[in-house]
Amino acid sequence: MMNDGEEVYKMNGSDFFNSPLFKAFNKRPTMDEFLALSKRFSRFGLTQDDIRDAIKSACDFFNIPQPRMIQDLTNTPGGQTMFVNWNRGSYYDDVLCFNMQQLIDMKVDSKDAFSLVMTHECAHRVLQRTQFYGPNNGAWEQELCCDYFMGVRAGLWNMDVSKITVGLALTSGSTTHPEGILRALFIRYGQYHVKEMQQQGVPLTIQNLITEFDKYRLQVLPDIQKEQRKHFRF
Ligand SMILES: [Zn+2]
Repeated sequence: MMNDGEEVYKMNGSDFFNSPLFKAFNKRPTMDEFLALSKRFSRFGLTQDDIRDAIKSACDFFNIPQPRMIQDLTNTPGGQTMFVNWNRGSYYDDVLCFNMQQLIDMKVDSKDAFSLVMTHECAHRVLQRTQFYGPNNGAWEQELCCDYFMGVRAGLWNMDVSKITVGLALTSGSTTHPEGILRALFIRYGQYHVKEMQQQGVPLTIQNLITEFDKYRLQVLPDIQKEQRKHFRF
């Protein structure tokens, strides 16, 4: 989701669950850390059950299974809200991580908003075998497609995506993540255009939605490339 650091870890080889990364996830918090965490949760207003529900509803939106693991990285140094992909072909080894402080800083302050962020992460799960065209292996295009799906869900389920959109619009781009203004553009497009698709009776399959995303990408390609030239030479 976020900009600093790698979001989608593509791991090859064996035994992720014995890796140092996984062990870092499972580090038990000290009492001080635990208390700080409880405070953050109360500030955010979400219980552990809310978090579980919010992730489950994001999975249900795509009709995909729950991830193998959900990791709270709020107290892990450098912990990011991200999807960790182990095997590109499977939903059953996926790991979803979140950093509550990072999300609070992004104005993600309700269960729905948290679930929309998890919709972006679950879109990465759905797109784990989809190759996008663009610099850095289509990294920006993949992110924009996940943002588009977040908008689609907000549109279909009448969820308030406005604060996250503003939060993301203010972020700056990197080689892995698009400029925020583009992200906001694709969220809004997903949110409104999916209703037109519905009215026209277009089946809302993942494939049809990706096709619509792609059409829109081509439509705004000059804007995307203008932003990409700040980060890539082409
Ligand atoms: Zn992402």
